[in-house]
Amino acid sequence: MADFSPMMQQYLKTKAEYPNCILFYRLGDFYEMFFDDAKLASRELELTLTGRECGQSERAPMCGVPYHSAESYISRLIAKGYKVAICEQMEDPATAKGLVKREIVRVVTPGTVIESSMLDEGRNNYLCVIYRASDRCGICFADVSTGEVFATLLNPASEGTICDELARYAPSEVLFNADFCDYKTAGQFIRDRLHANAELLDDGCFTEDSAARVCAQFEQPTLDALRLTDKPEIVNALCALTGYLTQTQRTGLERVHTLKIYEQAQYMRLDLTARRNLELTETMRSKEKRGSLLWVLDRTKTAMGKRMIRAWLEQPLMQFAQIVRRHDAVEELANDEMRRSTLIGTLADVFDLERLMTRIVYGSANGRDLRSLCMAARRLPDLRTQLESVHAKLLQDVFRRMDPLTDIADRIDAAICDDPPVSVREGGIIRKGYRAELDYLTQDLSDGQGVMARIEAEEREKTGIKGLKIGYNRVFGYYIEVTNSAREQVPDTYIRKQTLANCERYITQELKELENKILGARERAMQLEFELFDELRQTVAAELDRVQTTARAVAELDVLCSFAEVAQRNGYCRPVMNVDGRIRLKECRHPVVEAIATGVPFVPNDVLLDNDENRVAIITGPNMAGKSTYMRQTALACLMAQCGSFVPAADADLCILDGIFTRVGASDDLTSGQSTFMVEMSEVADILNHATANSLLIFDEIGRGTSTYDGMSIARAVVEYVSDKRRLGAKTLFATHYHELTVLEQEIYSVKNYNIAVKKRGDDITFLRRIVRGGADESFGIEVAKLAGVPDAVIERAKKILKQMEADGTVRHSAVQPAPEKNAQTDQMELTSPAADELIREIKAIDLNVLTPIEAMNKLYALWNRAQAIS
Ligand code: ATP
Repeated sequence: MADFSPMMQQYLKTKAEYPNCILFYRLGDFYEMFFDDAKLASRELELTLTGRECGQSERAPMCGVPYHSAESYISRLIAKGYKVAICEQMEDPATAKGLVKREIVRVVTPGTVIESSMLDEGRNNYLCVIYRASDRCGICFADVSTGEVFATLLNPASEGTICDELARYAPSEVLFNADFCDYKTAGQFIRDRLHANAELLDDGCFTEDSAARVCAQFEQPTLDALRLTDKPEIVNALCALTGYLTQTQRTGLERVHTLKIYEQAQYMRLDLTARRNLELTETMRSKEKRGSLLWVLDRTKTAMGKRMIRAWLEQPLMQFAQIVRRHDAVEELANDEMRRSTLIGTLADVFDLERLMTRIVYGSANGRDLRSLCMAARRLPDLRTQLESVHAKLLQDVFRRMDPLTDIADRIDAAICDDPPVSVREGGIIRKGYRAELDYLTQDLSDGQGVMARIEAEEREKTGIKGLKIGYNRVFGYYIEVTNSAREQVPDTYIRKQTLANCERYITQELKELENKILGARERAMQLEFELFDELRQTVAAELDRVQTTARAVAELDVLCSFAEVAQRNGYCRPVMNVDGRIRLKECRHPVVEAIATGVPFVPNDVLLDNDENRVAIITGPNMAGKSTYMRQTALACLMAQCGSFVPAADADLCILDGIFTRVGASDDLTSGQSTFMVEMSEVADILNHATANSLLIFDEIGRGTSTYDGMSIARAVVEYVSDKRRLGAKTLFATHYHELTVLEQEIYSVKNYNIAVKKRGDDITFLRRIVRGGADESFGIEVAKLAGVPDAVIERAKKILKQMEADGTVRHSAVQPAPEKNAQTDQMELTSPAADELIREIKAIDLNVLTPIEAMNKLYALWNRAQAIS
């Protein structure tokens, strides 16, 4: 170390304190990186790698970025999952004695960015902290850019509940304690599915002085006041959060102080698979918002509303009263076109109060940010006027929480001019008349400039040089410029300062004196403007709570207006919520398919599921008929209702679901090293282990990834399990190509068959998209293959093979066989031998109540093998 140059020693010392970060080290107008950081950054940012003398025989590898464009480079590194520590010069290099003092002023990490260029305005950016102690987990999610923190206790915690919580917030960075590392699946989930940065913190970060630190951060005297007395795991997670923010942000920590403690049971359970399959906020294939439920429902006008509608869709409510409260508000807005359109028009002018406040509190706001805050605040009285006479409780509540912020707007208006510049250091921000002292200085300045113009005219007159001009630049200050052709006429009193190709520049005593006066006034004015600006910024920052509460009220109003607008435009109905476990939809549509389809009208369908004879619907029908669409639209209608939205149906009578679980199509999870079938079975296992009688299950094909008999056995065992109220008894939509399963309607009281009708004419089929009672009688796979453009030769050959197989009896359409009487025993084989009698005895002896699904499958397989041997 001693061999390194003093500057390099300073660099290495700082770097040693931030080993996990790329260190941006300020040198003049550049941020430089050295050694491995330089090699890495030059690769990632495509920068030229150079070198710098460092006191060693070899030069230190170095690369750099200009300080004024550093933000875009930092954002690229953050997007790639790196952390960046910014080391600034803390004194002016021109006046510093010896080595310039430098300090880390900020560590930028994926979960703590506040710069708008690095954030998507329509979504929150969460930093998550998890503290595990035995089977309890405290978990918190903080959005530094909006100041909100959500925390919950998982008790008992499991890999599943942790992953569900992570899926709800999709954090970009997760910090955890050592004990959490035992949760291997959750760890893998964070890295491979959320693609979030994961970091293990020392235990001390969670426990040291935790209660005091948490109380201080959230400005409450005791843990009791924060409702955290019996939740030490949350306190520890919050403690690590505040420590991490102190370490990374350095300033503005008071911004993060809205803490909301919630219970997992407050929201509908949706695991990541369900969120993705239902395409709530992005499509499965292209990961775009277009084509998702959010895309249809989001007609919000403000950035705050955009973030909130996303959050509402991510967490459908479970409390009856809260859901109905939202429906009441949406209904009132939907029915009052005038009020709604006025509100929407006004909301369009409201800027992002939350993130503006963040910049104001952190000290990075400029004059334009304050003006935006002022302009947004000016719209609030109009919003309030529109809400004065509302009836819905939630709208009245929004009205009460919305502060007109008139005093803040007045202060900003008085201080900041209409069109302030980006910079806060170069003046031009403060309005004339705001502070007399500044007005005097400005007057001096303009007087000085007036005098300068007068001198120019006088000098021209005196010297007779027509082209004589007075100019200014930063290096030489004010000068008199004379072209070469008039050089002879220059008087002796002029002092030459600079020679250019075609002119000379001079100064005079008088000019120098005036210059000092002008520059002095300008400097003082700029300094005073900055001080006045900063004073105002701090005054506004002190009003954080009022602005924050108002921002949330505006966001809520925006979302409610958006729901109402979409309901009106798309013809949605208000759902009636019931407590009888019934899902009844009349003429239900898929909100996204109907919005995307152009020209082809969407065919609406009815849905009936209940806790009685309609618990499970087995849906058959050819490929492409619309089975998946039908099942998803049912799930989406229930979810939309619980978010507070109206639903795409003519009539909706819905119960509150505690979770929606989906198993849809085949998907490989190659990153986790699982085969298609393994993924399918893990998803089935997950559903059967976590769903309850109040959940809705969607099975779109199961058992397709293995041999027909294995697959069918599993599918059947699953239907039996989910329909049996002693086991699960959950409302289920089960689409299958195993037509054999339709016999279950005869055997199980709560199972009903449906199929999606098609019309066949010759070789062609027409999809009617209508769901009707009963099982489908044909698969039409070959016809669909033809539609898809499979070559004729293959189609013709497939038809021949199928005919042959039907003639041989290798295949049969079980569903077209006459259905046995309801509840009659279905004997599918003739069993007369002693071996067969033995088999029957064994089947009768099975106690179905104690078998797990997997045991049931194994048993079934064994019995099936024995039956094969008999026949
Ligand atoms: P597969 O068995 O091959 O998965 P499927 O029966 O699940 O097929 P879907 O994927 O639901 O069929 O539907 C196929 C297409 O049909 C959809 O992409 C949609 O465009 C259209 N469709 C489905 N239902 C309707 C409907 N009710 N009205 C109009 N179009 C529909």
